[in-house]
Amino acid sequence: MRNKYSIGILGATGMVGQRFIQLLENHPWFEIAWLAASDRSSGKKYGEAAKWRLEFPLPDRIANMTVSSAEPVGAPKIIFAALDSDIAKELEPKFAAAGCAVVSNSSAFRMHPEVPLVIPEVNAEHLHLIEEQSWRKESGGYMVTNPNCSAIGLVVALKPLEERFGIEQIFVSTMQAISGAGYPGVPSMDILGNVVPYIKSEEEKMEAETLRLLGRFEGHQVKPLSARMSAHCNRVAVEDGHTECVSIKLGKKLGRAATKEEILAAWAEFKPLAGQQLPMAPEQPVEFAPQDDRPQPRLDRNRGRGMGVTVGRLRPCGLLDWKFTVLSHNTIRGAAGAAILNAELLVSLGKLEPVTAAATRR
Ligand code: NAP
Repeated sequence: MRNKYSIGILGATGMVGQRFIQLLENHPWFEIAWLAASDRSSGKKYGEAAKWRLEFPLPDRIANMTVSSAEPVGAPKIIFAALDSDIAKELEPKFAAAGCAVVSNSSAFRMHPEVPLVIPEVNAEHLHLIEEQSWRKESGGYMVTNPNCSAIGLVVALKPLEERFGIEQIFVSTMQAISGAGYPGVPSMDILGNVVPYIKSEEEKMEAETLRLLGRFEGHQVKPLSARMSAHCNRVAVEDGHTECVSIKLGKKLGRAATKEEILAAWAEFKPLAGQQLPMAPEQPVEFAPQDDRPQPRLDRNRGRGMGVTVGRLRPCGLLDWKFTVLSHNTIRGAAGAAILNAELLVSLGKLEPVTAAATRR
């Protein structure tokens, strides 16, 4: 690639915004040219406005950039958005209408019938929905979303099983890290030495998004997977990394019950992006940990530079067919890394060229 694409980050000072900065600094295709956040931060140097929470040091170039106000005037044509959903609902369409490709993390438009909800390894074909969007037709801009941070790990683990065997029922119970609630998130008095068995709207999002992601693109719309699903979502005192206990009833594609070896082979052989050379894509999207006591967030969340999904403890289930544990990094695979991988896929499909060309013409 000769020139890098200039990109902007909306919500740059938050937990996900900071991960964007970490993952995009030195990215071979994208260059951070614009950072925006709320009125509390705009006009300040990024280093003053953001409470930097990552072990990765804040780069001097970024610390010295001035935070812009969250308006499309003067923004680059590729926007990574990490806004709370109420704010995203208001702001993201303004950027899409102004001709920007908005690659969003928020839940505001994930279930909109014309906005693709995408994991590149799972349902890249849903990106056809972009062409249905009125923003695309009028200004060239559009919106693409990535899933909820718990749905993403689950769906990457389920996709190879759905492809080979079909899936009829899914039961999942999550143990979600506190960084999933943004910063400062859950008060320490509520979470230390504790488990909170409620995350607002999370179970509904997990159920709806999982079935949509595993659904088929037909005609001009997505038909969700026809499976029954139940999710329990819990917040636990872990910094990063969502763990999920899953039970599934498989479908009848094989004409007989799948064996443990066949399930392990489905995960090991799942490499849908092999050959595409997308910088953020992990070599092994689903990695099986054979030890009895893995995966664990502290030990496994950074596999595949935080983009790998680790599965373990595969065993027969007394209620459905099989049960296992899934772990993924919530702010990398579940948020910023997911959006960057979506944008890399958009580059490889040529869908960022029209927006950047329109920007040049202006
Ligand atoms: P966060 O830490 O609370 O950050 C929110 C960001 O939005 C900050 O940069 C904040 O700027 C900015 N903001 C707030 N009000 C604004 C306004 N009126 N105009 C412009 N910017 C405004 O939240 P987060 O955890 O990064 O999450 C961001 C989004 O990603 C949410 O929709 C969340 O659900 C989603 N998500 C998060 C995770 C995760 O693991 N954390 C995973 C997947 C998806 P100031 O600093 O100036 O207030």
